[in-house]
Amino acid sequence: MRTGARAQGGAALTAWSRAWLVALAALTGGAACGNAEVSGPGAQDPAVVVRFEEPARSDRAAAAFLREHEPVTQAAAAVTVLLTLDRPVPLVVRSCDGDGSSYDPESRRIDICYEEVSEARDLFARAGRQDTDDAVAAVLQETVFHETAHAVVDALGVRTAGREEDFADQFAALMLLRQGAAGERRLRAAADAWNLLAAAAENADGDAEDEHSPDRERAVSAFCHLYGSAPGRHQDLVRPDVLPLARARGCAEEWAAVRDTLLETLGPALREG
Ligand SMILES: [Zn+2]
Repeated sequence: MRTGARAQGGAALTAWSRAWLVALAALTGGAACGNAEVSGPGAQDPAVVVRFEEPARSDRAAAAFLREHEPVTQAAAAVTVLLTLDRPVPLVVRSCDGDGSSYDPESRRIDICYEEVSEARDLFARAGRQDTDDAVAAVLQETVFHETAHAVVDALGVRTAGREEDFADQFAALMLLRQGAAGERRLRAAADAWNLLAAAAENADGDAEDEHSPDRERAVSAFCHLYGSAPGRHQDLVRPDVLPLARARGCAEEWAAVRDTLLETLGPALREG
């Protein structure tokens, strides 16, 4: 469980946090200057409002990465395009000092940890991946979508058909697949990360227990949904160590059913259709 937000240092705004407040104002329509990346139907009515806290010294590179690649703000903007909520969900990016990214139902706030950037980078680097930027950004987007799903379920007061954790993974898959070919690559990278985590846990003799499905199971489900969304494009996933053939056979039907259930559950909040 999360231990709750820590008090944040100094009241004075640094130049860095001022810059982000300007970006935030643009996101919420409060700034005169345009901000092309958040244009569209969400510009006036965000479902998720992002705030970046000043990072700990050890997280400065991660913060710079998020400024350059923008996976968090892009994911938040994508949620706004799909969903409208009575109250926007606050999302704070911060140095978490040991806690993981999470949604806190008491404060109704999403926390995304700078540390996740370096953790994902280490994971891919240890697996020998050379160019990790896109994969790291993909993991961050997937995390934002996953935690947003918890917030949306809470905000709508709906019950999910299955486990809420699985619903959150499925929502993340839906959001990524809505991005077309780039989103397909991102979902593949996020599933790769779970596979690598599962392998690392096996090597370390035991998985840390948490409320999510085991990492290998999450990876297979994500690969299944990716494959099921367009089997012709993802035949290479059907391998014993990625997506076993027996599971792959049902993935087109499984993804169609999962997507329908997701959209039905999200119905009250959907902007379209
Ligand atoms: Zn979760």
